[in-house]
Amino acid sequence: MNQRVATTLRGLAEHHRVKLEYVGGLPGSVFGFADPQSRTIVISLNQPDCDVVFTTLHELAHFVLHIDQPYRLSIPRWLSWSFYRPHKSEYLGEIACKTKRLLRRKCGRELQADLWALIAYPQVATPDDVKAFLRQHPEKLKWVLLVTPFLLKHRIGQFIRSLIPLETAKTPDSPPPAHHRS
Ligand SMILES: [Zn+2]
Repeated sequence: MNQRVATTLRGLAEHHRVKLEYVGGLPGSVFGFADPQSRTIVISLNQPDCDVVFTTLHELAHFVLHIDQPYRLSIPRWLSWSFYRPHKSEYLGEIACKTKRLLRRKCGRELQADLWALIAYPQVATPDDVKAFLRQHPEKLKWVLLVTPFLLKHRIGQFIRSLIPLETAKTPDSPPPAHHRS
């Protein structure tokens, strides 16, 4: 794995007080797992580098989203109302019930961890890793497109923040900005 990527992953894990262990010899179907007790993430090295990075981020996401600050994904009220209200038509009632079940299943922990990892991935991995990962997992492309607006928003925020120190450096003695209510 690229040295800069490995260092970034270690830094991220340390920030969340998590230990990373990269091991060979895990069964082929096990890419990695998180142990909340010892706060350790074990990652299999029997996978391409681009997958090692993704699996590390996915397991880290479980700590961030489900272990340290567990939350339930809430379905918007306007949407849940249409699920729970009594439907006059049996057909519509059945559709509402199936959609509710599908949403619960699809928006489960694994997808949440995948989305978190996909948002973090391009910021941590090299462009070559991103290309290799999408070539390996074309089915993830739709989720990448879904998280792209969040990624752009983050990048734009970073860019704006990077301008602020330059602005304050120019006028070191300027008084703090006054806040006016309009
Ligand atoms: Zn998982």
